[in-house]
Amino acid sequence: MANMFDSFKDSINKGVATVSVKSGSLKEKTLIKTAISNAQKQMASELNDLGVRFYNTWKAGSASVDIFTEDFQRIQGYEKEIEGLKERLEQMKEEEEKLLGGGQKAPAAGGSVFCTNCGKALPVGSRFCDECGTPLS
Ligand SMILES: [Zn+2]
Repeated sequence: MANMFDSFKDSINKGVATVSVKSGSLKEKTLIKTAISNAQKQMASELNDLGVRFYNTWKAGSASVDIFTEDFQRIQGYEKEIEGLKERLEQMKEEEEKLLGGGQKAPAAGGSVFCTNCGKALPVGSRFCDECGTPLS
């Protein structure tokens, strides 16, 4: 009976770990997704602004890319930031899957009850024996 108790304890511990992994990473994931979306918005708006200035410079007759180097670098910074955040999200997903055993559900905790008439093992909560039909209390 010691083995049965141990495996019951294990399934409880695993359940607790699962809950804390999920709630902890969910919060971090939300933060990362918000950061990605903010960086993307910022990058799009600066790219748009840069395009307008680039065009105006060309229109004025001096389309040299060099004067925009700092802008390009800043935008590249956003790009790298977004990339890094997305990598972190992927990493978290992999860690989580490893921790949760590849997304498999832990077996349901609980034991068996035995039919008083025929002795068949039945899941806890069964109302009738599925072998002989005897009602279980
Ligand atoms: Zn029975």
